[in-house]
Amino acid sequence: MSEPAKLSSRPRVLSGMRPTGKLHLGNYMGALANWVKLQDNYECYFFIADLHALTTDFADTSALASNTLEVALDFLAAGLDPARSTIFVQSMVKPHFELPLYLGMITPLGWLERVPSYKEMQENLTHKDLTMFGFLGYPVLMASDILLYQPEFVPVGQDQQAHVEITREIARRFNQFYKLWEQEVLPEPKVLLTPSPKLPGTDGRKMSKSYGNTIQMTDPEPVVRQKLKTMVTDPARVRRTDKGDPDKCPVGDLHKVFSTAETLAKVYDGCRTAGIGCIECKGWAADALVNILQPIQERRARFSDAQVEEILNDGSFRAAARAEQTMVQVRSAMKLPSSTGASL
Ligand code: SF4
Repeated sequence: MSEPAKLSSRPRVLSGMRPTGKLHLGNYMGALANWVKLQDNYECYFFIADLHALTTDFADTSALASNTLEVALDFLAAGLDPARSTIFVQSMVKPHFELPLYLGMITPLGWLERVPSYKEMQENLTHKDLTMFGFLGYPVLMASDILLYQPEFVPVGQDQQAHVEITREIARRFNQFYKLWEQEVLPEPKVLLTPSPKLPGTDGRKMSKSYGNTIQMTDPEPVVRQKLKTMVTDPARVRRTDKGDPDKCPVGDLHKVFSTAETLAKVYDGCRTAGIGCIECKGWAADALVNILQPIQERRARFSDAQVEEILNDGSFRAAARAEQTMVQVRSAMKLPSSTGASL
């Protein structure tokens, strides 16, 4: 087993992702690419939130283990480094089962019912019965995931700040009820805003697995090129001779994120003057995507399943040790008996 990374003088950050299967470029640009950079300046904890998957996918867990492995592979492929980051699986760290119970005792129902994603997901996932205790309580699970590691920051995009806010509220409430030697036990984490560029899927809507419009991190070059070929464009540009506008075109949005300034200039000029065709333009976008994906896919191919499992075991062991430190304080503050060691 490798030694824990000696990075404790750096501010700690923590973030996680549900195991939804192979990740796509939206996941990469919205989270992973930022996480990779954070490794230079922060003590990093990154986890696969398999217990969160149960809040919506409890009826069929057959793919949970394989999806967890795929996501771990994508983490490593993106450049997360187990020597610098603690990479772990939520369900392999037992304090993730204990702290939600305590925090659930003090979290008012109204706080959970007003979380925007609670109503949104119920409206969007109409084929699933989400009137479950676990689904309503997922912000408590999420708050526990974060607070167990007492991080200074939680890296999130603009649209996820509400998640950190309820964590801060729950921490504040805990600290009002319970103290340890007059000290607060659960520091309120701060938001670390990370870039989360607009990334359209092949149908022009936000890239999302649920829309079936993704370009996956594992897509080979021919698949990427084929997906680009069928991607929607500026609806005003029907014929080759029609002028278009990259600002109204999902392919243009991809160029803005992935292409060089030189290519982007050619796209703006060629599209607005009808000097280029959409097929040519999509070819340039595909070139840029292949360029990004190639090193990621090469890194992915270097890891065997057995190596990934070892990395997750090692990371989960280290995470459990850190989480248990918090739990000792929590139990002590709550005047509960501690079971140090037994839950590792
Ligand atoms: S030329 Fe490019 S940016 Fe312009 S409409 Fe076609 S695909 Fe979109």
